[in-house]
Amino acid sequence: MEKGIVYLVGAGPGDPKLITVYGLECIQKADVIAYDRLINKELLKHAKSDAELIFVGKSPGKHALIQEEIHELLISKAQEGKIVTRLKGGDPCVFGRVGEEAEVLAEADIPYEIVPGITAGIAAPAYAGIPVTHRDYAASFTIVTGHGRQEKGMDNINWEALAKGSDTIAFYMGVGNLKHICTQLINFGRSKHTPAAVIQWGTTEEQRTVVGDLATIESIVQEAKITHPAIVLVGEVVKLREKIQWFQEGIRV
Ligand code: SAH
Repeated sequence: MEKGIVYLVGAGPGDPKLITVYGLECIQKADVIAYDRLINKELLKHAKSDAELIFVGKSPGKHALIQEEIHELLISKAQEGKIVTRLKGGDPCVFGRVGEEAEVLAEADIPYEIVPGITAGIAAPAYAGIPVTHRDYAASFTIVTGHGRQEKGMDNINWEALAKGSDTIAFYMGVGNLKHICTQLINFGRSKHTPAAVIQWGTTEEQRTVVGDLATIESIVQEAKITHPAIVLVGEVVKLREKIQWFQEGIRV
């Protein structure tokens, strides 16, 4: 039987219109769609009526399917000759484990393509009125996992380089670890007055943003009960929100 193909597709950050034209085509032509938790379910309405829709999502601490099961699923469906679309939140190459999935597909000799998407660390700030670079405020931008915890020996972030070398920093998966993030940045030389924002459910109807600085943002987040999924954005660019906030949070535009 003819081999199928797997499209590893970025679904964008939340607003269903923020998927690429090619990503949408991959949804429309798929026989099987394996989708993650953070994708907007509206997008699945574009699937063929007889497409098989399989939730393979992970929430923090919980796994619907373990990664190996996802690999087996992609391989077996493609070997049946099917068009498989693996739909991931944001961009599949940014904390999306696309490398692992592409690697096993390559080993199994299954054709695949990687379809980029708009990542939350850029899009959520944009919808909050914060451009991640700006000629006057930020010439560099770093994407970092906020997951690591020093006490668990998982913290392999070069905090000194980050604190001193990157103007804007977007932490993914960082909201539960905010205290550690702020403490480390301050300890490694970033001013405690550096502006910081936390944006939850960016680009969706439920978007909420809070703003403070490295010294205050953790208590502001606790007060506002902001939780996962959220982007923690650190840098002078956060101040631009005062002037160029355009997206009305909580109201569809
Ligand atoms: N591949 C995704 C990131 C997956 S890691 C991308 O490129 O965007 C999951 C983390 O992404 C979450 O913990 C959160 O930090 C961030 N995230 C994803 N969607 C988000 C959204 N709509 N608003 C804010 N943060 C989001």
